[in-house]
Amino acid sequence: MNPETEYREGLEQLAAHYESILKLLGEDPERDGLQKTPMRVAKALQVLTRGYAQDPHRVLTDALFEEKYNQMVIVKDIDFFSMCEHHMLPFYGKVHVAYIPNGYITGLSKIARVVDIFSHRLQVQERLTQQIKDCIQDTLKPMGVMVVMEAKHMCMQMRGVEKQNAITTTSDFSGAFNQAKTREEFMNLLRGESKRI
Ligand SMILES: [Zn+2]
Repeated sequence: MNPETEYREGLEQLAAHYESILKLLGEDPERDGLQKTPMRVAKALQVLTRGYAQDPHRVLTDALFEEKYNQMVIVKDIDFFSMCEHHMLPFYGKVHVAYIPNGYITGLSKIARVVDIFSHRLQVQERLTQQIKDCIQDTLKPMGVMVVMEAKHMCMQMRGVEKQNAITTTSDFSGAFNQAKTREEFMNLLRGESKRI
């Protein structure tokens, strides 16, 4: 099965549940605009959670290249869209990743793929940040990895829980990034011309 283009098992049941949800919300699932909604939502949800059927470690191990370069590699402003596991509402923003190779590098687009896979699962921002870091650390085995995520949470914004434009920042790091100087170098490079979300 190709999780990018095909729907997973359970699509019909998912749609049936959404029909019940519409009724419970006081809607009429038979009215024109809603007839196809349960199936559309079921398909959308399967796309938004397609990361469950994908293996982020394999994405990296399939694209390892031996390389002597041992300076910091930075991939910044990677867009991501995820869903919070508490409200099943979107949170989205930018991820910045840095790692210091230890004999191996990976394709830059593969880092973005790893972000994409983990974010297409139900998440909390803190765990998402950590999973991206761990995946890169475990597969590339670099001198260190650091991940910084900046996100807006629709569950905060739409429900008016906090300031409408609050941005939540999380970070996690390993190895060489335990040194404040190394983290600073990364943060300085990020500040450069980084766009806000
Ligand atoms: Zn939430």
